[in-house]
Amino acid sequence: MQCQTVLPGTECTFMGKNGCVFTEGACQVIVENCEGCERVVETQIGKVCGSYPAPEKKWSGGLCNFATHVKAEIKTEDAKINPLKASKKAAGSKKKK
Ligand code: SF4
Repeated sequence: MQCQTVLPGTECTFMGKNGCVFTEGACQVIVENCEGCERVVETQIGKVCGSYPAPEKKWSGGLCNFATHVKAEIKTEDAKINPLKASKKAAGSKKKK
């Protein structure tokens, strides 16, 4: 159903026949960590997230997984090489000579 509160006309799963069923009956404004994200939308109550109604909760467990301006750093320890595959690869490259 289309939002009739903060983002009028936008399709939203929280909007029902009795209005917005989200906590406090509307989207919540963004938090500092959201600044720079492409999902931020300017509304009459201020900046809100176009993808999630409670931005603060998105950051409470660490990085927001919807954020477009920051990416999680994936730390890979020394790449593990399958010795059997490495051996076959090495053997394959010797044949090409
Ligand atoms: S996607 Fe995440 S970082 Fe971006 S505005 Fe929404 S809550 Fe904030």
